[in-house]
Amino acid sequence: MKPSEMATSWICGICGKPLEILTVNFAYMRGNFEVDIPACRACDLVLVPDELATGGFVEAERILEDK
Ligand SMILES: [Zn+2]
Repeated sequence: MKPSEMATSWICGICGKPLEILTVNFAYMRGNFEVDIPACRACDLVLVPDELATGGFVEAERILEDK
């Protein structure tokens, strides 16, 4: 799927409104960062991209190994 199609075709699964590209603050263990991702203003649903979720797991695993 192309990024442009992802941004325009996604519908909120909760309220059925089209998702907007919003800048969302993510808080992980090592701090905060901002990402532009599809989100629903009406009910605060946020679509977390796979690469972002995977990155979080990688970061968490690396911290555990540091112990
Ligand atoms: Zn919604």
